[in-house]
Amino acid sequence: MPREPIIQPTVISNDEDRDLRPQRMRDMVGQRDVHERLGIAVDAASKRGEPLGHLLLDGPPGLGKTTFATCIPHDLGVNVQIASGAALAAPKDLLPYLTNIEERSVLFIDEIHRMPKAVEEFLYPAMEDFRIDIVLGEGVNARTINLQIKPFTLIGATTRTGMLSAPLRDRFQMREHLDFYSIEELSEIVTRNMRKLKVDSDDEAAVEIAIRSRGTPRLANNRLRWVRDYALSRSDGRVSLAVARDALEMLGIDRLGLDPQDRKYLETIARVFGGGPVGVEAVAHTLNLEPDTLVDEVEPFLLRKELVVRTPRGRRLTPAAFDHLRITPPADPDPSGQQKLF
Ligand code: ADP
Repeated sequence: MPREPIIQPTVISNDEDRDLRPQRMRDMVGQRDVHERLGIAVDAASKRGEPLGHLLLDGPPGLGKTTFATCIPHDLGVNVQIASGAALAAPKDLLPYLTNIEERSVLFIDEIHRMPKAVEEFLYPAMEDFRIDIVLGEGVNARTINLQIKPFTLIGATTRTGMLSAPLRDRFQMREHLDFYSIEELSEIVTRNMRKLKVDSDDEAAVEIAIRSRGTPRLANNRLRWVRDYALSRSDGRVSLAVARDALEMLGIDRLGLDPQDRKYLETIARVFGGGPVGVEAVAHTLNLEPDTLVDEVEPFLLRKELVVRTPRGRRLTPAAFDHLRITPPADPDPSGQQKLF
């Protein structure tokens, strides 16, 4: 049985973060360029009374793809249905979503790169001509029924644009990449959310949480919640700079915002693989993790911070990483003498 689609006029259910998630684009912080471009597109679509063009959002987890995908329909005054690429195993799984589409409404498919090819191909006529082609019967008796659906907007989110087929990518009129947030932007998010959660705090505490949140709003919110609990349990509930620092130290989060898993990744390359270069699979096996977890969740921020670099022969630590770990770099980290970085 295909799953019933969830029609969500207001908030995302079963999301632990729903109380902190912005509801409108104007409540979102940062991503200024993306925000401005999407604001113009939403405004124009509203004025014309037409659906917004299909939109693809990509970027590491926790940066606001789902938030954009739920704020945009609110701003357009239309409904949104939410599906996950991983759960769409066959074209029939898409049918209830497509047949439930209302005029100008939004279908959001998270992790769109995980849809099998057959589902992807089923989506093409829906995206292009607002039509679905249903094949009845098999072999020589097979016939196709065309079903017209209402004009709609597909918003796709992915952590891996590279894994999307070119025909699917090309069917999105707009493609936007979300990048990590600055300390100022994250501080603003933390300060707003402290107010929402009614946390009594010092300004420096919000900045401290922002500094230690890997440029990621989802982590900033998680860390804020932990700091709030810690303050309540260990002192009078007020979040001072010292309380924020102690609480985050207790989680093993360091001054760059790296957590124990991030450091373990860097330490493994430093100690086991002599600083690299090393293939991501080898590091993943040593850490007993899926390579995808490293590529999607661990590496993007470390690459951004220039603690690790990608070379054609694998990952390699930079001097900054050795410095941060307080490990002395090997005298000749790459005995082959190729591609020396330091
Ligand atoms: P993604 O879909 O990219 O994994 P989400 O949209 O689920 O990320 O974002 C995670 C959480 O971070 C949201 O629930 C929201 O509370 C917060 N968040 C994300 N982007 C913003 C933003 N621009 N402004 C304020 N909060 C944000």
